[in-house]
Amino acid sequence: MKVIEHIEKANGSTLFSFEILPPLKGQNIKSIFDSIDPLMEFKPPFIDVTYHREEYVYKELGNGLLEKHIIRKRPGTVGICAAIQNKYSVDAIPHILCGGFSKEDTENFLIDLDFLGIDNVLALRGDAVASETYFKPEKDGHNYASDLVKQIVDLNTGKYLDEELQNSSATDFCIGVAGYPEKHMEAPSLDSDIHFLKKKIKSGASYIVTQMFFDNSKFFEFVEKCRAAGITVPIIPGLKPISTKKQLNLIPHRFKVDLPDDLIMAVVRAEDNKAVRQIGIEWCIEQSKELVAKGVPLLHYYSMGKSDNIKAIAKEVF
Ligand code: FAD
Repeated sequence: MKVIEHIEKANGSTLFSFEILPPLKGQNIKSIFDSIDPLMEFKPPFIDVTYHREEYVYKELGNGLLEKHIIRKRPGTVGICAAIQNKYSVDAIPHILCGGFSKEDTENFLIDLDFLGIDNVLALRGDAVASETYFKPEKDGHNYASDLVKQIVDLNTGKYLDEELQNSSATDFCIGVAGYPEKHMEAPSLDSDIHFLKKKIKSGASYIVTQMFFDNSKFFEFVEKCRAAGITVPIIPGLKPISTKKQLNLIPHRFKVDLPDDLIMAVVRAEDNKAVRQIGIEWCIEQSKELVAKGVPLLHYYSMGKSDNIKAIAKEVF
């Protein structure tokens, strides 16, 4: 079932969903099931599975020279989605990127998803690979998520890359895209970012999931600006509970989001990471309750493969 249908069916009540990462290469799928099992009591209508593109690593050859290798540390997005749908009978949403994909790769990826009975995708550009400053598409790939959305919409109308294909069958994906309450890190302003967000919706996306934020007022202002710009689709807030001291530096640096002073100082004063985890849970419960009171369609949690804190939050909110 499509995300927008789940939202319509909920008839105004707030749904619960979460996002997981494929395990590091070498681990098995049990770690994924172990992180999903405790959260199933909150009846997620869908579970997102992130996609991780290739990375460059350099191996020393012993003679002062380095050899460049391309590896994928977390493969398995499609297989995990199929396993989730099979084991839990809930929808699984694979993330799909522009980065690392040619248009042909994208088409073949989408064909696999369609054959597996996957109805939804979250279409993203992806970040630059670690060794590069700016994002570079593949030679025949997409520059922006809006172009990727267009290709998915084309396939939904039976238009494949090879225009000579006869009797081609149309897919029927519901497409989600990313939004950034504190603007995307490369965007010169929030208004310009929302301008391009609208382009993703006009291209055919049906809903927006936001980057994590820790101050609800940023989300409410973002939604207001989106509505003023003519974006009418559901906007799903993404939430992540802080769980370690290290994240005080890591989150603003990696995701370019602000942490409120009260939260920062509570974490700074905490004795250890056990105490930080509890602070993160309590902060996220307060955020969640306020968002539910404002009638958001769904709360989407970034679980990062750890379910105990998400479970503690969901118990208080759902
Ligand atoms: P886009 O929408 O393409 O925007 C990228 C930038 O370009 C923005 O600054 C935008 O304002 C600008 N822009 C857009 N269109 C144009 C245009 N036509 N002309 C000029 N500028 C333009 N990354 C992963 O690698 N794997 C994942 O699974 C993953 N999941 C995510 C899930 C969520 C909910 C979110 C919020 C992010 C996720 N990301 C993931 C990170 C995401 O890939 C990065 O944030 C990436 O840098 C931007 O992706 P996007 O789809 O928002 O890009």
